[in-house]
Amino acid sequence: MKTKLLLPILFVAAIALGLWMRKGKSTGSTALGQPALELTNEILAYGPRPPASEALAKVKDHLAAELKAAGWETTLQEFERDTPIGKVKFSNLRARLPVEGQDTWKRDIEGLICAHIDSKYFKNKKFLGADDAASACAAVVEIGKYLTENKPEQANQIEIVLFDGEEAFAENMTIMDGLYGSRYYANQWRTLDNKPKFGILLDMVGHKDLSIRIPSDSPKHLAELMFEAAKKEGKSSRFGTAPGSIMDDHLPLNLVGIPTIDIIGDFANKPWWHTPGDNAAIISAESLDISIRVTLRMLDEFLGN
Ligand SMILES: [Zn+2]
Repeated sequence: MKTKLLLPILFVAAIALGLWMRKGKSTGSTALGQPALELTNEILAYGPRPPASEALAKVKDHLAAELKAAGWETTLQEFERDTPIGKVKFSNLRARLPVEGQDTWKRDIEGLICAHIDSKYFKNKKFLGADDAASACAAVVEIGKYLTENKPEQANQIEIVLFDGEEAFAENMTIMDGLYGSRYYANQWRTLDNKPKFGILLDMVGHKDLSIRIPSDSPKHLAELMFEAAKKEGKSSRFGTAPGSIMDDHLPLNLVGIPTIDIIGDFANKPWWHTPGDNAAIISAESLDISIRVTLRMLDEFLGN
């Protein structure tokens, strides 16, 4: 009688232990960062992905498939521009949740979560852009997956955009060369009344020595929200402000009236920036985890828990 009872008890105990361990794992310090790191590596496996390259098309397909599997609808916003290397075809990858009875791409949304999907074009060197900005794209996609699974009401209210052509073709960015995708995208909103109320742009958010330095002219309420979120995560030391403004995809959005914060890692005078040193070796799951969690906390504030 005793042994007959012992077996079922052991069985139940084993299941309970397994569930507890799984739960422990899913709330661990890199539960969100680890899949983002893996996705970063999957992006990098396609090689350099400058605008109009075959590798970039494959990366877009890959990330669209990830988002679709999580319930998102995706579309490519295509356009062509003159650049210093001639005419180039670009496309931004957009994702929204479909809502029955509404036009997916015309319905109102509250906010944007974005990153740039291209890697900088170099004629004679292999540049992967692991933190600039494959890691940010992976973080954005993981945020999208997390939201549909855990906070569908929040997912309903945002659009994910991965901008093409953030990088300049020439060595340095100018008003005319760079930010191709975000300029085109922002322009589509210019005359519309139902603009999103906020944007969060991630760029270089996976460096192992994560040191976020937002532009000094960031929209004040968004900056405060980010610092508050970082504090709640116990990661205030990782977040600060750059000495000046920064040219990035948030600029065109701010110009058309969508207040957008650029959550960007410090790249000024970093030896890896825009060199082959920006590869998988500098990315960490812990850093990605911090960036993702801070962004999720900001979404809680904007959209309600
Ligand atoms: Zn860059």
